[in-house]
Amino acid sequence: MTDTTPATAPRTATFTTRSPATGKPMAEYPVDGPAEVSRAVARARSAQESWAALPASQRRGHLLSWKKRLANDLDDLARTIAEETGKPAGDAALEVVLTLEHLGWAARNADRVLRRRTVRTGLFAAHQRASLVHRPLGVIAVIGPWNYPLYTPMGSVGYALAAGNGVVLKPSELTPGTGTALAERFDAAVPGHAGLLTTVTGAASTGDALARSGVDKLAFTGSPGTARKVMAACAETLTPFLAECGGKDAVIVTADADLDAAADAIVWGALSNAGQTCAGVERVYAVREIHAGLCERVVERAAAVRPGAEADASYGPLTLPGQMEIVERHVRGAVSAGARALLGGPDSVRAPYVAPVVLTGVPEDAEAMTQETFGPVVAINAVADVDEAVRRANASQYALGAAVFCRNGRAGRAIAARLRAGAVSVNSVLGFAAVPALPFGGTGESGFGRIHGAEGLRAFTSVQSMTVQRFTPPIALTSFGVPAATRERAVRLAQALHRRR
Ligand code: NAD
Repeated sequence: MTDTTPATAPRTATFTTRSPATGKPMAEYPVDGPAEVSRAVARARSAQESWAALPASQRRGHLLSWKKRLANDLDDLARTIAEETGKPAGDAALEVVLTLEHLGWAARNADRVLRRRTVRTGLFAAHQRASLVHRPLGVIAVIGPWNYPLYTPMGSVGYALAAGNGVVLKPSELTPGTGTALAERFDAAVPGHAGLLTTVTGAASTGDALARSGVDKLAFTGSPGTARKVMAACAETLTPFLAECGGKDAVIVTADADLDAAADAIVWGALSNAGQTCAGVERVYAVREIHAGLCERVVERAAAVRPGAEADASYGPLTLPGQMEIVERHVRGAVSAGARALLGGPDSVRAPYVAPVVLTGVPEDAEAMTQETFGPVVAINAVADVDEAVRRANASQYALGAAVFCRNGRAGRAIAARLRAGAVSVNSVLGFAAVPALPFGGTGESGFGRIHGAEGLRAFTSVQSMTVQRFTPPIALTSFGVPAATRERAVRLAQALHRRR
């Protein structure tokens, strides 16, 4: 009989990451399939039991050790992020710093937010002591994007671990090195909990396997189109799902606003990270009196901003080569629909870089106003008044972030409160991103659920409610032994009380 067994085991399929700036190959990673994903989930499940059983102070200590390790390795992590995304090293370092802020907050606040607390019982349950506790769900799957490959997934990973869960992370196929680095640092800093945080690598097929792997919740960050597919896969097993998707964030600038400050923030909000920010500035509504002055200031500042691969470049290339075509289509479409390009235009798109584009008078139904552009492009439209600005800002199918520039603080807050957005900044852009206590997330095409803050910890738990009977009540209503007349008296007493108001 001939031996048909191959001399070596079949090679696992791999994929290669490429530098967004040069297109040169960088590293190879395995394409993890259902078997590898299942193994990672099983390991996380068994590691999670002892993790959840630790006293809260020990979990906090472990997470802070991990944070310290990540802080020590800040330069290495930033280098990996910069290589994989193409963003400047300084931006990548800032991303690590923001991530550390969030991890520290999650570690230090998990016990306070999630521990058992008592609640009032009400008249009819006065004989009970009532309490609730947030318990870990088990194993959380996290599927991440490439634009902030550390900060964004860590909004779920760090909070899920702090809440006592195990985590299997699938980073974007463009940034697997950043995800892998996270899990490696965890294992090094937190000995004895191997498998609690694992990274699986690959593209859609790996993500799909993770969605079908029987995890206890899946936290997804990416585009709304992919969110729909992942949610459909999760639906088959009733796996709870959290979606952090794109945005088309608007900035409103009132007549009394500090135009220099507004222009400065708009330029940074629209162009930093080459505009590849879910809550980046894509639309601006400026009241007519100050529209021209604002445009002039934005153009002056944006003209000084330069993309490139050099250390002093303001931003890098578009990370996803396919995004070039979308950005160009949005700009070209806006201009042919009557918009005026105040800076740049369709020719600003020169792969792999896109120079800053400032548009005005963009028809509200142009793709540049309705779809996420995800490039260094900003549209500044004039509006008659604040009411029109609010109406237009809210007309989007997305509802993630927004900002208001207004010198009068009270008026600014009132406008912000009218905006359909999950997070709003007054007199800054993206102010909320650096405040770990603030929940983050959107509605509509921007997704649902919240990461960060207390809500972001609770998102990875299930609540168990408990009552403990303190004494036998004079009228025990949960017994067949209660005489009908007693029950009737209790009902009438309740009726009388509720009728009062
Ligand atoms: P994407 O939707 O292409 O991919 C996101 C992730 O899903 C990747 O890891 C990808 O491999 C995975 N995936 C793709 N198909 C899948 C499938 N069928 N099943 C399971 N997983 C699958 O998004 P992207 O291009 O990586 O990221 C950019 C998008 O992310 C933008 O829309 C941006 O606005 C959004 N984003 C949102 C936030 C937020 O917090 N709201 C933060 C960052 C980015």
